[in-house]
Amino acid sequence: MPLVRNPLPRARWLRAAVLVAASTGLVAAALPAPPPLGIGDPLFPHLGNPGYDVLAYDLDLTYPGVNTKPLAAVTRIDALATADLERLNLDFTHGTVSAVTVDDIPAAYTGSGEDLVVTPAVPIDAGEQIEITVTHTSDPTGPADTGGWVRTGDGLAMANQADAAHRVFPSNDHPADKAYFTFRITAPSALTAVANGLPAGRVDHGATTTWTYRTRHPMATELAQVSIGSSTVVHRAGPRGLPVRDVVRTADRELMEPWLRKTPGQLEWMERQVGPYPFETYGVLVADADTGFELETQTLSLFERGLFTEPGYPEWYVDSIMVHELAHQWFGDSVSPRTWSDLWLNEGHASWYEALYAEEKAGKSMERRMKAAYAASDGWRADGGPPAAPEPPSPGHKISLFRPVVYDGSALVLYALRQEIGTEAFGRLERRWVADHRDSTATTADFTALAGEIAGRDLTAFFRDWLYAAKTPPMPGHPDWRSRPAEAVRTAVKPG
Ligand SMILES: [Zn+2]
Repeated sequence: MPLVRNPLPRARWLRAAVLVAASTGLVAAALPAPPPLGIGDPLFPHLGNPGYDVLAYDLDLTYPGVNTKPLAAVTRIDALATADLERLNLDFTHGTVSAVTVDDIPAAYTGSGEDLVVTPAVPIDAGEQIEITVTHTSDPTGPADTGGWVRTGDGLAMANQADAAHRVFPSNDHPADKAYFTFRITAPSALTAVANGLPAGRVDHGATTTWTYRTRHPMATELAQVSIGSSTVVHRAGPRGLPVRDVVRTADRELMEPWLRKTPGQLEWMERQVGPYPFETYGVLVADADTGFELETQTLSLFERGLFTEPGYPEWYVDSIMVHELAHQWFGDSVSPRTWSDLWLNEGHASWYEALYAEEKAGKSMERRMKAAYAASDGWRADGGPPAAPEPPSPGHKISLFRPVVYDGSALVLYALRQEIGTEAFGRLERRWVADHRDSTATTADFTALAGEIAGRDLTAFFRDWLYAAKTPPMPGHPDWRSRPAEAVRTAVKPG
């Protein structure tokens, strides 16, 4: 994915100059509202947009010092047109747009549903590289359960999965279109700002400071993270010198240390399972917020402070949740789902390594956990659809997509697969999967094809039943396992 933009073709500059001269007052012209568009995700029909591929986002955010007022923002998007475009849609809601340019030429824009529809002064040709600049606000207020900005006790964090990045910044908000990110965050100098990737500069202006971060790998919009608060960044080394940095409230620095120091060992454990950590840095962000979930934001996973301070959670459980989010860096982040129906590949694998870690480190039997999951599986399928064809989230509650069937209900599919093809082949499949699709997106069909290749036999029927059937198939090696009737199974949503 090239980061260097091609110069605008000369002919296009000329056309643009003529058009702009002829049409003052073009900006924000009253247009009939064109329809919101999508890329055809079965679960989120209006998410993402056709006709272009985003190469890089450059986000400029100015935090006013309180988390109840909008941030001032400029989002620059470098994109490659994949079709001739008279206009293009971005996903954006919950902010006010004050200007849009395409290649520095003012463009008309209007809202349509949760889309921002941009009409450039000059139509864009397929194959052209363009820069779209949107000047806007980004409002952190509103219902907390819709995602986007998370208001913390001392500032802000982000939780954009699955469809809420466009509540924060204009984007092609679908994991099928990954891109490089640069964040430039200006905040009062008493605060600390951290984002995905590595630091790329810090400028002190006196009352305010601007912090820059950049990703070295492409990232899905849903995995963006920006933390602003009274925080301390704690540095240590991971395997092979990997820079590990955690972000905690400064007041919690000592309190959190016993948890933070576990990360390098967990990284080593995951590397033994599936191969090298795929990114330039890792760490945990401990947010003073009640999100009800943790989230695998790329290179900097988001955790609720309460997970570490609530005495009711046993240590092994907290460890396993830390490993769940860490495992997502391979499964879900480095290898992203092509559509949201592929979510089981994220959560099934993260739950798998969560359970495997608990078994190896704390003696929590995987077999017992999977037998319990098997008993619940028919009920989970009845509630949320089979693992690879989940039902859409309930309207107004998008997070309801994250049901038990995509967690242990899908780890159960991986357990069945390991039973079917053997531990050695299963291990090779996992390693090949994250190596073959690193920094990319992949589908359920890609996974089942690779499994068949590695097993050396056709697994079509096996996966058809395990991934798409209403009833859970018999467990290989455990013909005595039984699933309880659907009515008997009602389980709450698990942490992300
Ligand atoms: Zn998860």
